[in-house]
Amino acid sequence: MGWSIPIGTIKGTVVRIHITFLLLLLWIGSAHYTQGGWAAATEGVVFIALLFLCVLLHEFGHVLTARRYGIRTPDITLLPIGGVARLERLPEKPSQELLVALAGPAVNVVIAALLYLALGGFPSSASAEPQNAGVGVLERLASANLFLALFNLIPAFPMDGGRVLRAILASRLGYGRGTQLAATVGQAVAFALGLLGLFGNPLLLFIALFVYLGAASESHAVQMREVSRGVIVSDAMITHFESLSPASVLEDAVRCLLQTTQHEFPVVDGSGRLRGVLTRDDMIRALRDRGPATPVLEVMRADIPVIDRRRNLEEALRLMQENRLPAVGVNDNDGRLVGLVTPENVGEMMMVHAARPDRRMAS
Ligand SMILES: [Zn+2]
Repeated sequence: MGWSIPIGTIKGTVVRIHITFLLLLLWIGSAHYTQGGWAAATEGVVFIALLFLCVLLHEFGHVLTARRYGIRTPDITLLPIGGVARLERLPEKPSQELLVALAGPAVNVVIAALLYLALGGFPSSASAEPQNAGVGVLERLASANLFLALFNLIPAFPMDGGRVLRAILASRLGYGRGTQLAATVGQAVAFALGLLGLFGNPLLLFIALFVYLGAASESHAVQMREVSRGVIVSDAMITHFESLSPASVLEDAVRCLLQTTQHEFPVVDGSGRLRGVLTRDDMIRALRDRGPATPVLEVMRADIPVIDRRRNLEEALRLMQENRLPAVGVNDNDGRLVGLVTPENVGEMMMVHAARPDRRMAS
Protein backbone atom coordinates (compact mmCIF):
# COMPACT_ATOMS: atom_id res chain seq x y z
CA MET A 1 0.00 0.00 0.00
CA GLY A 2 1.55 3.30 -1.08
CA TRP A 3 1.77 6.41 1.11
CA SER A 4 2.07 4.43 4.32
CA ILE A 5 4.67 5.17 6.96
CA PRO A 6 5.97 2.23 9.02
CA ILE A 7 5.93 3.23 12.70
CA GLY A 8 7.24 0.03 14.23
CA THR A 9 7.10 -3.74 14.42
CA ILE A 10 5.02 -5.47 17.08
CA LYS A 11 5.44 -9.23 17.48
CA GLY A 12 6.72 -9.64 13.93
CA THR A 13 3.96 -7.57 12.29
CA VAL A 14 4.88 -4.22 10.74
CA VAL A 15 2.47 -1.42 11.73
CA ARG A 16 1.99 1.33 9.14
CA ILE A 17 0.06 4.57 9.25
CA HIS A 18 -1.42 5.85 6.02
CA ILE A 19 -0.54 9.46 5.26
CA THR A 20 -4.26 10.39 5.05
CA PHE A 21 -4.60 9.41 8.70
CA LEU A 22 -2.02 12.02 9.69
CA LEU A 23 -3.92 14.56 7.58
CA LEU A 24 -7.08 13.61 9.47
CA LEU A 25 -5.32 14.34 12.79
CA LEU A 26 -4.27 17.76 11.47
CA TRP A 27 -7.77 18.46 10.25
CA ILE A 28 -9.43 17.41 13.55
CA GLY A 29 -6.89 19.49 15.46
CA SER A 30 -7.47 22.64 13.45
CA ALA A 31 -11.26 22.21 13.37
CA HIS A 32 -11.31 21.93 17.16
CA TYR A 33 -8.84 24.80 17.53
CA THR A 34 -11.04 27.26 15.66
CA GLN A 35 -13.96 26.30 17.92
CA GLY A 36 -12.33 26.06 21.33
CA GLY A 37 -8.64 26.92 21.23
CA TRP A 38 -5.69 24.78 22.20
CA ALA A 39 -7.49 22.79 24.91
CA ALA A 40 -10.16 21.64 22.45
CA ALA A 41 -7.57 20.92 19.73
CA THR A 42 -5.52 18.74 22.10
CA GLU A 43 -8.63 16.92 23.26
CA GLY A 44 -9.74 16.23 19.69
CA VAL A 45 -6.36 14.90 18.63
CA VAL A 46 -5.92 12.80 21.79
CA PHE A 47 -9.36 11.28 21.26
CA ILE A 48 -8.65 10.30 17.64
CA ALA A 49 -5.21 8.95 18.56
CA LEU A 50 -6.72 6.83 21.37
CA LEU A 51 -9.46 5.64 19.05
CA PHE A 52 -6.86 4.47 16.57
CA LEU A 53 -4.99 2.70 19.33
CA CYS A 54 -8.25 0.77 19.88
CA VAL A 55 -8.47 0.01 16.14
CA LEU A 56 -4.88 -1.25 16.29
CA LEU A 57 -5.74 -3.51 19.24
CA HIS A 58 -8.77 -4.75 17.26
CA GLU A 59 -6.48 -5.69 14.36
CA PHE A 60 -4.14 -7.47 16.75
CA GLY A 61 -7.14 -9.49 17.89
CA HIS A 62 -7.34 -10.85 14.33
CA VAL A 63 -3.56 -11.16 13.95
CA LEU A 64 -2.90 -13.11 17.14
CA THR A 65 -5.85 -15.45 16.57
CA ALA A 66 -4.79 -16.08 12.94
CA ARG A 67 -1.29 -16.87 14.14
CA ARG A 68 -2.63 -19.65 16.35
CA TYR A 69 -3.67 -21.37 13.11
CA GLY A 70 -0.26 -20.91 11.52
CA ILE A 71 -1.24 -17.96 9.30
CA ARG A 72 1.47 -15.32 8.89
CA THR A 73 0.51 -11.65 9.20
CA PRO A 74 3.10 -9.37 7.60
CA ASP A 75 1.51 -5.97 8.26
CA ILE A 76 -1.28 -3.81 9.61
CA THR A 77 -2.18 -0.48 7.98
CA LEU A 78 -4.13 2.20 9.81
CA LEU A 79 -6.40 4.20 7.51
CA PRO A 80 -8.91 6.94 8.39
CA ILE A 81 -11.71 4.39 7.87
CA GLY A 82 -10.11 1.88 10.24
CA GLY A 83 -7.42 -0.74 10.16
CA VAL A 84 -6.51 -3.46 7.71
CA ALA A 85 -4.56 -6.52 8.88
CA ARG A 86 -3.11 -8.48 5.99
CA LEU A 87 -3.31 -12.24 6.46
CA GLU A 88 -1.23 -14.29 4.05
CA ARG A 89 -4.02 -16.75 3.51
CA LEU A 90 -7.52 -17.57 4.70
CA PRO A 91 -7.99 -20.00 7.58
CA GLU A 92 -8.63 -23.57 6.41
CA LYS A 93 -11.69 -24.41 8.48
CA PRO A 94 -14.86 -22.32 8.82
CA SER A 95 -14.63 -22.59 12.62
CA GLN A 96 -11.15 -21.02 12.50
CA GLU A 97 -12.33 -18.18 10.28
CA LEU A 98 -15.23 -17.57 12.68
CA LEU A 99 -12.85 -17.13 15.62
CA VAL A 100 -10.37 -14.98 13.67
CA ALA A 101 -13.22 -12.70 12.54
CA LEU A 102 -14.84 -12.43 15.96
CA ALA A 103 -11.57 -11.72 17.77
CA GLY A 104 -11.43 -8.13 16.44
CA PRO A 105 -14.87 -6.88 17.60
CA ALA A 106 -14.41 -8.85 20.85
CA VAL A 107 -11.38 -6.67 21.65
CA ASN A 108 -13.51 -3.52 21.31
CA VAL A 109 -16.22 -4.98 23.55
CA VAL A 110 -13.60 -5.75 26.21
CA ILE A 111 -12.12 -2.23 25.95
CA ALA A 112 -15.59 -0.66 26.28
CA ALA A 113 -16.39 -2.84 29.29
CA LEU A 114 -13.08 -1.91 30.99
CA LEU A 115 -13.65 1.80 30.32
CA TYR A 116 -17.19 1.71 31.69
CA LEU A 117 -15.85 -0.13 34.71
CA ALA A 118 -13.16 2.54 35.22
CA LEU A 119 -15.73 5.32 34.77
CA GLY A 120 -17.88 3.70 37.43
CA GLY A 121 -20.85 2.47 35.47
CA PHE A 122 -22.88 3.49 32.43
CA PRO A 123 -22.68 6.99 30.89
CA SER A 124 -25.49 8.93 32.64
CA SER A 125 -23.56 9.54 35.89
CA ALA A 126 -20.36 10.76 34.24
CA SER A 127 -21.89 12.86 31.46
CA ALA A 128 -23.32 15.18 34.14
CA GLU A 129 -19.90 16.86 34.33
CA PRO A 130 -18.90 17.90 30.82
CA GLN A 131 -16.34 20.26 32.38
CA ASN A 132 -14.08 17.33 33.14
CA ALA A 133 -12.29 16.85 29.82
CA GLY A 134 -10.54 13.60 30.82
CA VAL A 135 -13.78 11.87 31.72
CA GLY A 136 -15.41 13.22 28.56
CA VAL A 137 -12.74 11.68 26.32
CA LEU A 138 -12.81 8.27 28.07
CA GLU A 139 -16.58 8.15 27.93
CA ARG A 140 -16.66 8.98 24.24
CA LEU A 141 -13.95 6.39 23.72
CA ALA A 142 -16.09 3.73 25.44
CA SER A 143 -19.12 4.39 23.23
CA ALA A 144 -16.88 4.62 20.13
CA ASN A 145 -15.59 1.13 20.93
CA LEU A 146 -19.13 -0.20 21.17
CA PHE A 147 -19.86 1.45 17.82
CA LEU A 148 -16.72 -0.11 16.28
CA ALA A 149 -17.76 -3.57 17.47
CA LEU A 150 -21.30 -3.18 16.05
CA PHE A 151 -20.16 -1.55 12.81
CA ASN A 152 -17.65 -4.32 12.13
CA LEU A 153 -20.32 -6.94 12.69
CA ILE A 154 -22.43 -5.67 9.76
CA PRO A 155 -22.84 -8.92 7.79
CA ALA A 156 -21.01 -7.78 4.64
CA PHE A 157 -17.48 -8.16 3.28
CA PRO A 158 -14.97 -6.68 3.98
CA MET A 159 -16.39 -6.23 7.49
CA ASP A 160 -15.71 -8.89 10.06
CA GLY A 161 -19.45 -9.64 10.07
CA GLY A 162 -19.18 -10.75 6.43
CA ARG A 163 -16.57 -13.31 7.45
CA VAL A 164 -18.65 -14.45 10.40
CA LEU A 165 -21.63 -14.97 8.08
CA ARG A 166 -19.48 -16.79 5.50
CA ALA A 167 -17.98 -19.07 8.17
CA ILE A 168 -21.45 -20.01 9.43
CA LEU A 169 -22.78 -20.62 5.88
CA ALA A 170 -19.60 -22.45 4.81
CA SER A 171 -19.86 -24.98 7.62
CA ARG A 172 -23.17 -26.16 6.09
CA LEU A 173 -22.89 -25.35 2.36
CA GLY A 174 -19.16 -25.56 1.69
CA TYR A 175 -16.76 -22.72 1.11
CA GLY A 176 -17.62 -21.65 -2.43
CA ARG A 177 -21.39 -21.65 -1.99
CA GLY A 178 -21.11 -20.05 1.47
CA THR A 179 -19.01 -17.20 0.09
CA GLN A 180 -21.35 -16.60 -2.84
CA LEU A 181 -24.34 -16.37 -0.52
CA ALA A 182 -22.48 -14.15 1.97
CA ALA A 183 -21.34 -11.89 -0.89
CA THR A 184 -24.95 -11.58 -2.12
CA VAL A 185 -26.15 -10.66 1.38
CA GLY A 186 -23.27 -8.17 1.60
CA GLN A 187 -24.21 -6.50 -1.66
CA ALA A 188 -27.83 -6.23 -0.53
CA VAL A 189 -26.60 -4.58 2.68
CA ALA A 190 -24.42 -2.24 0.59
CA PHE A 191 -27.47 -1.33 -1.50
CA ALA A 192 -29.53 -0.59 1.64
CA LEU A 193 -26.69 1.52 3.08
CA GLY A 194 -26.39 3.42 -0.21
CA LEU A 195 -30.13 4.14 -0.18
CA LEU A 196 -29.92 5.40 3.41
CA GLY A 197 -26.91 7.47 2.37
CA LEU A 198 -28.84 9.13 -0.44
CA PHE A 199 -31.45 10.44 1.96
CA GLY A 200 -29.34 10.92 5.05
CA ASN A 201 -25.67 10.74 5.85
CA PRO A 202 -23.48 10.96 2.70
CA LEU A 203 -20.72 9.09 4.57
CA LEU A 204 -22.93 5.99 4.20
CA LEU A 205 -22.63 6.21 0.41
CA PHE A 206 -18.88 5.94 0.72
CA ILE A 207 -19.17 2.96 3.08
CA ALA A 208 -21.69 1.33 0.73
CA LEU A 209 -19.25 1.50 -2.18
CA PHE A 210 -16.46 0.10 0.00
CA VAL A 211 -18.71 -2.80 1.06
CA TYR A 212 -19.91 -3.47 -2.49
CA LEU A 213 -16.37 -3.75 -3.88
CA GLY A 214 -15.24 -5.82 -0.90
CA ALA A 215 -17.98 -8.39 -1.47
CA ALA A 216 -17.11 -8.74 -5.15
CA SER A 217 -13.37 -9.22 -4.63
CA GLU A 218 -13.81 -11.71 -1.82
CA SER A 219 -16.11 -13.84 -3.92
CA HIS A 220 -13.59 -13.77 -6.80
CA ALA A 221 -10.65 -14.85 -4.59
CA VAL A 222 -12.60 -17.76 -3.16
CA GLN A 223 -13.82 -18.91 -6.57
CA MET A 224 -10.22 -19.03 -7.76
CA ARG A 225 -9.30 -21.15 -4.78
CA GLU A 226 -12.27 -23.51 -5.23
CA VAL A 227 -11.49 -24.11 -8.88
CA SER A 228 -7.80 -24.69 -8.24
CA ARG A 229 -8.38 -27.14 -5.42
CA GLY A 230 -9.15 -30.26 -7.43
CA VAL A 231 -6.69 -29.65 -10.28
CA ILE A 232 -3.07 -30.71 -10.59
CA VAL A 233 -0.52 -28.24 -11.88
CA SER A 234 0.31 -30.09 -15.12
CA ASP A 235 -3.36 -29.91 -16.20
CA ALA A 236 -3.46 -26.14 -15.95
CA MET A 237 0.05 -24.90 -16.73
CA ILE A 238 1.19 -23.06 -19.84
CA THR A 239 3.44 -25.35 -21.90
CA HIS A 240 3.96 -23.27 -25.04
CA PHE A 241 6.11 -20.28 -24.24
CA GLU A 242 9.29 -18.49 -25.25
CA SER A 243 12.21 -18.55 -22.83
CA LEU A 244 15.21 -16.27 -22.47
CA SER A 245 18.74 -17.47 -21.71
CA PRO A 246 20.98 -16.04 -18.95
CA ALA A 247 22.99 -14.38 -21.73
CA SER A 248 19.96 -12.53 -23.17
CA VAL A 249 19.74 -8.76 -23.05
CA LEU A 250 16.64 -6.56 -22.96
CA GLU A 251 16.64 -6.20 -26.72
CA ASP A 252 16.11 -9.99 -27.07
CA ALA A 253 13.34 -9.82 -24.50
CA VAL A 254 11.57 -7.02 -26.38
CA ARG A 255 11.65 -9.10 -29.57
CA CYS A 256 10.01 -12.00 -27.70
CA LEU A 257 7.42 -9.64 -26.25
CA LEU A 258 6.37 -8.38 -29.67
CA GLN A 259 6.37 -11.80 -31.35
CA THR A 260 4.24 -13.57 -28.73
CA THR A 261 1.23 -12.81 -26.55
CA GLN A 262 3.26 -13.65 -23.43
CA HIS A 263 3.69 -11.15 -20.58
CA GLU A 264 6.04 -13.22 -18.41
CA PHE A 265 9.28 -14.62 -19.80
CA PRO A 266 11.18 -17.33 -17.93
CA VAL A 267 14.96 -17.12 -17.94
CA VAL A 268 16.23 -20.69 -18.31
CA ASP A 269 19.85 -21.85 -18.25
CA GLY A 270 21.52 -24.52 -20.42
CA SER A 271 20.47 -27.40 -18.17
CA GLY A 272 16.81 -26.35 -18.25
CA ARG A 273 16.71 -24.78 -14.80
CA LEU A 274 14.60 -21.68 -14.11
CA ARG A 275 16.74 -18.72 -13.03
CA GLY A 276 13.97 -16.13 -12.83
CA VAL A 277 11.09 -14.46 -14.64
CA LEU A 278 11.11 -11.19 -16.56
CA THR A 279 7.71 -9.49 -16.61
CA ARG A 280 6.52 -7.06 -19.26
CA ASP A 281 6.34 -4.19 -16.75
CA ASP A 282 9.88 -4.78 -15.46
CA MET A 283 11.10 -5.07 -19.05
CA ILE A 284 9.60 -1.72 -20.10
CA ARG A 285 10.80 0.03 -16.95
CA ALA A 286 14.35 -1.28 -17.36
CA LEU A 287 14.36 -0.44 -21.06
CA ARG A 288 13.53 3.17 -20.23
CA ASP A 289 15.93 3.48 -17.29
CA ARG A 290 18.89 1.37 -18.41
CA GLY A 291 18.69 0.77 -22.15
CA PRO A 292 18.40 -2.23 -24.53
CA ALA A 293 21.85 -3.73 -23.80
CA THR A 294 21.02 -4.47 -20.12
CA PRO A 295 21.38 -8.21 -19.27
CA VAL A 296 18.02 -9.75 -18.34
CA LEU A 297 19.67 -11.42 -15.32
CA GLU A 298 19.99 -7.97 -13.75
CA VAL A 299 16.33 -6.95 -14.09
CA MET A 300 14.38 -10.23 -13.82
CA ARG A 301 12.67 -11.37 -10.64
CA ALA A 302 14.90 -14.08 -9.20
CA ASP A 303 12.56 -15.09 -6.36
CA ILE A 304 10.28 -17.28 -8.50
CA PRO A 305 9.62 -20.67 -6.87
CA VAL A 306 9.30 -23.89 -8.84
CA ILE A 307 6.97 -26.71 -7.93
CA ASP A 308 6.59 -30.26 -9.16
CA ARG A 309 4.01 -30.77 -11.93
CA ARG A 310 2.15 -33.38 -9.86
CA ARG A 311 1.34 -30.85 -7.13
CA ASN A 312 -2.04 -29.28 -6.55
CA LEU A 313 -2.80 -26.07 -8.48
CA GLU A 314 -4.05 -24.55 -5.24
CA GLU A 315 -0.49 -24.62 -3.95
CA ALA A 316 0.77 -22.64 -6.95
CA LEU A 317 -2.06 -20.13 -6.52
CA ARG A 318 -1.28 -19.72 -2.83
CA LEU A 319 2.41 -19.10 -3.58
CA MET A 320 1.48 -16.41 -6.12
CA GLN A 321 -1.02 -14.69 -3.83
CA GLU A 322 1.12 -14.76 -0.69
CA ASN A 323 4.23 -13.40 -2.34
CA ARG A 324 2.59 -11.36 -5.12
CA LEU A 325 4.43 -13.29 -7.80
CA PRO A 326 3.87 -12.85 -11.55
CA ALA A 327 4.30 -16.62 -12.12
CA VAL A 328 5.34 -19.94 -10.62
CA GLY A 329 7.60 -22.37 -12.50
CA VAL A 330 6.75 -26.04 -12.94
CA ASN A 331 9.48 -28.69 -13.00
CA ASP A 332 9.65 -32.27 -14.24
CA ASN A 333 11.32 -35.03 -12.21
CA ASP A 334 14.79 -33.96 -13.37
CA GLY A 335 14.32 -30.38 -12.19
CA ARG A 336 13.84 -29.00 -15.70
CA LEU A 337 11.32 -26.27 -16.40
CA VAL A 338 8.33 -27.71 -18.30
CA GLY A 339 5.62 -25.14 -17.61
CA LEU A 340 4.48 -21.90 -16.05
CA VAL A 341 1.46 -20.96 -13.97
CA THR A 342 0.35 -17.31 -14.01
CA PRO A 343 -2.63 -15.53 -12.40
CA GLU A 344 -4.05 -14.92 -15.89
CA ASN A 345 -3.75 -18.60 -16.66
CA VAL A 346 -5.68 -19.52 -13.48
CA GLY A 347 -8.27 -16.91 -14.45
CA GLU A 348 -8.82 -18.65 -17.80
CA MET A 349 -9.17 -21.92 -15.94
CA MET A 350 -12.00 -20.31 -13.95
CA MET A 351 -13.79 -19.12 -17.08
CA VAL A 352 -13.66 -22.63 -18.52
CA HIS A 353 -14.89 -24.03 -15.25
CA ALA A 354 -17.79 -21.56 -15.12
CA ALA A 355 -18.79 -22.36 -18.71
CA ARG A 356 -19.31 -26.03 -17.95
CA PRO A 357 -20.45 -26.28 -14.35
CA ASP A 358 -21.74 -29.83 -14.83
CA ARG A 359 -18.29 -31.28 -15.39
CA ARG A 360 -15.72 -31.75 -12.71
CA MET A 361 -12.30 -30.45 -13.70
CA ALA A 362 -10.59 -32.80 -11.25
CA SER A 363 -8.72 -35.69 -12.74
ZN1 LIG B 1 -11.81 -6.48 12.15
